[in-house]
Amino acid sequence: MSSCEKLCILKRKQANGGLLVIGERSVAVFYDERVLEHRPDLESPFLPGRLDRRVREILSGLGIKWAYPEHPGRITAIRDKLEQQPIAGLEFRGGAVATPEQLARVHGTSYLNRIDRLRGQAAWLDTDTTAVSPGSVLAAEVAAGSGIAAVDAVCTGEAQSAFVLTRPPGHHAEPVRARGFCLFNNVAVAATHAQAVHGLERVLIIDWDAHHGNGTQDIFWTDPSVLFFDIHRGAPFYPGSGALEEVGAGPGEGYTVNVPLPAGSGNLAYIKAFEEILAPAAEAFRPDLILVSAGFDAHRLDLALNVSYEGFAAMTGIVQRLADQHCPGRLAFILEGGYHLESLANGVHAVLEILAGGVPPEPGVTGIQEVEEAAEFHRSAFEENR
Ligand SMILES: [Zn+2]
Repeated sequence: MSSCEKLCILKRKQANGGLLVIGERSVAVFYDERVLEHRPDLESPFLPGRLDRRVREILSGLGIKWAYPEHPGRITAIRDKLEQQPIAGLEFRGGAVATPEQLARVHGTSYLNRIDRLRGQAAWLDTDTTAVSPGSVLAAEVAAGSGIAAVDAVCTGEAQSAFVLTRPPGHHAEPVRARGFCLFNNVAVAATHAQAVHGLERVLIIDWDAHHGNGTQDIFWTDPSVLFFDIHRGAPFYPGSGALEEVGAGPGEGYTVNVPLPAGSGNLAYIKAFEEILAPAAEAFRPDLILVSAGFDAHRLDLALNVSYEGFAAMTGIVQRLADQHCPGRLAFILEGGYHLESLANGVHAVLEILAGGVPPEPGVTGIQEVEEAAEFHRSAFEENR
């Protein structure tokens, strides 16, 4: 570090009243080019489910071509953003391939065999949006294996937190069904690995993707060792599950916490849910590890909700605080959705700044600050005319 950089950090430290600054926390960022080889054919027609069919009919009427939205450009957009605006404290690592045994903690053997037979092929797996290309099976194995590597990094203390830049995403994948662009449930594979190998008892999974994590909920539905908190846009938004009353069953009753929101919900709704529902739930559960299914499709550019970059940063600050309180050094983020490349890349960047030690913002209601500034700007004109 140059003396100039040291001085900059010192100045920021003083400005922040001695708080941590970017670069003071270590973050392991997992990036593996093998996940770019999952390339469902953009020219193939969608095989839509009922909701998708309706949307597709509307789009065909408008003459807009439907392309597969979950594509390699999502990951390269994030990589390019981090190259253009590097963040101190990030340490980039390659991923790892999940073994059949690791995947079998979550998925059925017959399902895994079926996926294995698709290696090298192009095919549609599910009528609701999931397809594979020749490189997809390995990409999905790397996506799940990189989540495992992230858990290893934070459990061994190699990094204070981890972020897995990966795809295909995972939270819609059920034990025996690929759904919603997802083949293997990456976050569930990571959680079960932490329990099986690192001996951690309780894992908190926070899913802030705009869509409900139906697969993760399904996998841990009766399991009291995993607390699943999911905030999302409610039904009939895809996949349609995640109602308030879905709380788990049997020994897992009360360990699934859903917060469905209406369209357009923004920063303040998310932060209120985190402070008033997630924080007390974490307090009662006392997790040994926190995993985040981090989707960025709640940003307004993805057209479903209205979270801003400041909102993602503030949510990260709360999650980091919970991790510091309950399980120091054990916090890992795994990428889920986010299809607008600009908000995806900027959203991930905003999260990583906080993980690296940045000070979380306190977002207000969008526009209020601008109105206050405008009022100040115009005030003298009114006063002079009196
Ligand atoms: Zn999503």
